[in-house]
Amino acid sequence: MAYSGSRRVQNLPPYLFARIDRLIEEKKAQGVDVISLGIGDPVEPTPDHIIEAHIEALRDPENHRYPSYTGLRAFRVAAARWMEQRFGVSLDPDREILPLIGSKEGIAHTPWALVNEGEVVLVPNPAYPVYETATLLAGAEPYHLPLLEENAFLADVRAVPTDIARRATLMFLNYPNNPTSATADLAYFSEVVEWARENGILIAHDNAYSEITFGSYAAPSILEVEGARDIAIEFHSLSKSYNMTGWRIGFVAGNADAIDALGRLKTNIDSGIFNPIQYAGIEALERGAADIAAMVRIYERRRERVWAFLDRVGLQYWKSDATIYVWVRVPDGETSESFTSYLLERAGVVVSPGSAYGHHGEGYIRISLTVPDSRLEEAVSRLESVL
Ligand SMILES: *Cc1c(COP(=O)(O)O)cnc(C)c1O
Repeated sequence: MAYSGSRRVQNLPPYLFARIDRLIEEKKAQGVDVISLGIGDPVEPTPDHIIEAHIEALRDPENHRYPSYTGLRAFRVAAARWMEQRFGVSLDPDREILPLIGSKEGIAHTPWALVNEGEVVLVPNPAYPVYETATLLAGAEPYHLPLLEENAFLADVRAVPTDIARRATLMFLNYPNNPTSATADLAYFSEVVEWARENGILIAHDNAYSEITFGSYAAPSILEVEGARDIAIEFHSLSKSYNMTGWRIGFVAGNADAIDALGRLKTNIDSGIFNPIQYAGIEALERGAADIAAMVRIYERRRERVWAFLDRVGLQYWKSDATIYVWVRVPDGETSESFTSYLLERAGVVVSPGSAYGHHGEGYIRISLTVPDSRLEEAVSRLESVL
């Protein structure tokens, strides 16, 4: 028997990095020392005190058993305290916070838990691909919210046609944004909350980059908007903030009914997060502020290097005060993919083609700052020599 997968799986959009991946393999086979600026995955280690908290919890046999579906109460309390200290948002740790096996897991299950087949889900484009694939897997219909440079990459919800707004039950948003690096202020979130309320649409805001911000800029939580918790949930991730991508831990905060539905779905799928990982998470949330500050200084330095290089070669880019990405316009006459291929072919440097995040990403590439400084220097000098 040959198994080609269910229609559900077959209907997933093609994996757009496939061609680039093939090119990378070819280059490596030719002995080229390929440098990847394509992936947003911190290379610095998880801070020691977080690892120590994990090891200590690991030695307690109580922690080797099935964890609770709703997570350790101590983790939910730590998350609620962090939301209070960071954003001034006070949440009930038992009803308005749910730990997740990485925020991706919660995002992927959200349409399934909260949207019926045939309903519309508003999905930014370009975007983190999970919003759209999760929508499709739930049998719902994605409707794209274009993120355009002329709107500072903010989704214009007022431009959504009335009939679509009427059929929509969920919308995804993500600021600070991957891949464009754009940020949103509270005035924007207020507008979206008002519009979502008028139309009865649940907002799922992905705040994975809330802590990776530069200068005096601090990213807000959508839950700071008056009444937002009636209509919004927000995803938080420990991955990018504390160099914990491999640990798989995050949480969702906000509307209690939506969180209850997500929790009910999850009890039928997973069995929670390994307790020692939650103890590491508590340590990060309670005592990780200095680690974030240190990482932000590193990204800030790398971002300056990349900006200076782009200025020298005359490439346009979005000047943002957040995220680990630089969103760059490709030169005239190039597409996202042709320019990506050119840089790989000529310089052995991998970037992400903007089109991989949706068709409105066409005409851009994304440069990630998650490479060691010395590799970034090498990449920049190679790129400069071919541009
Ligand atoms: C990295 C990333 C995530 C995933 O975070 P995890 O908590 O590691 O699952 C979610 N959203 C966006 C936009 C991301 O870039």
